Amino acid sequence: MNQYQLSRRSDIGNKIRVSFEFFPPKNDDMEARLWDTVTRLEPLRPQFVSVTYGAGGTTRERTARTVKRILQESTLTPAAHMTCVDATREEVDQVIAEFAAMGVKRFVALRGDPKEGVGAAYQPHPGGYANGAELVGALKAQGDFDISVSAYPEKHPESPDFATDFDMLKRKVDQGATRAVTQFFFDNDLYERYVERARKAGIYIPIVPGVLPIHSFGQVANFASRCGAHVPGWLAERFEGLDKDPQTHALVASAVAVEQVLDLVERGVSDFHFYTMNRADLVVAVCHMIGIRPQPVVQGSAAA
Ligand code: FAD
Repeated sequence: MNQYQLSRRSDIGNKIRVSFEFFPPKNDDMEARLWDTVTRLEPLRPQFVSVTYGAGGTTRERTARTVKRILQESTLTPAAHMTCVDATREEVDQVIAEFAAMGVKRFVALRGDPKEGVGAAYQPHPGGYANGAELVGALKAQGDFDISVSAYPEKHPESPDFATDFDMLKRKVDQGATRAVTQFFFDNDLYERYVERARKAGIYIPIVPGVLPIHSFGQVANFASRCGAHVPGWLAERFEGLDKDPQTHALVASAVAVEQVLDLVERGVSDFHFYTMNRADLVVAVCHMIGIRPQPVVQGSAAA
C-alpha cells in the first residue's frame, strides 16, 4: 500500500459507515457482557445495530427485550431480525406490530433455517410466509421500514445455482428491501464478483459485506462449513497452533480482519456490517484502523 491508497487517507473515517450485529443473551452473565460491548461500541456511532432472531423464533422474547433495552438505554438505532420459521402469517404480523409499537424502524428480514438445524430440508409453515421476499412484503404492509435482507457471495447452500439466489434477492428488492448484508466470507474476490453479478442481474441496492472477526478459529471453521462459507487454506495456516495461545490468536485475528477490511476499502467499499459475537475488542481495533474514532455519546442523538 502507498500513501495515495484510499485506506490511508486521513479523512477515510468520514466516508465509512458501520453497523454491528448482536445476538440476544441467554443469561445474566451474557447480558452483562453484551451490555459492556454495546457501551464500548456505542461511541463509534454505527448506522444501526441489529439483534438476531433464533431459529424457529426461539429467541422471540429475548430478541424483543434486547431491542427494547437498546432503544431505552442507548443512543443506538436497533434493527430487529425476524424469520418466517414455524410461524403463521398472523403470528409474524403480530411480532412486527409489537416491534413497531416499541418504536423499531429497521428490520433484517430472513426466511430462517429449518428448526431441525442448518442442512435439514426447509419446509415453510403451511400458513406462514415462505421466504425472505414474502416477509419483506409483510413488513412493508405495516410501515415504511428500513429493511435489510441476506445475500450470499458463495451462494446459499440450498440454492442450485447463483441465478436462483439472484432471483430471490431481486424479489426481496422488488418487495422493498433497502440493502443486503452478506453472509461472512474470507475471500474478497468472491464478494467483488458477487456484487458485479448482482448489478448485471439488475440489483442495485447496497450489498454490504458482513465481516466476521475470528474470536475462535475452530468455531468459525465449523460454522463456516455448515453455512457454505469457504475457509481458505492460507487462513487456516495463519491460525495453526494457536488454539492454546489466546493472546496470539487475538492479535492474528485482529490483523486478519483489518487486512480484509482495508482491502475492501481499497476496492471502494464504504459500508461494513460486523458480526460482533457480542464482543467489542476486535471490532474496535478494525474500526480504529479505518479511521472511525469514538465520539461523545449524547442522549437523543441516535444515528439516522
Ligand atoms: P431467502 O432469502 O428467502 O432464500 C435464500 C435462498 O434459498 C434463495 O436465494 C434461494 O436460493 C433459496 N430459496 C428459498 N426459497 C425458495 C423458493 N421458494 N424457491 C427457490 N429457491 C428458494 N437466521 C436466523 O435464524 N436468525 C437470524 O437472525 C439470522 N440473521 C442473518 C443475518 C444475515 C445478514 C444473514 C446473511 C443470514 C442470517 N440468518 C439468520 C441465516 C438465514 O436465516 C439462513 O441463511 C437461511 O437458510 C436463509 O434465509 P434467507 O433469508 O437468506 O432466505
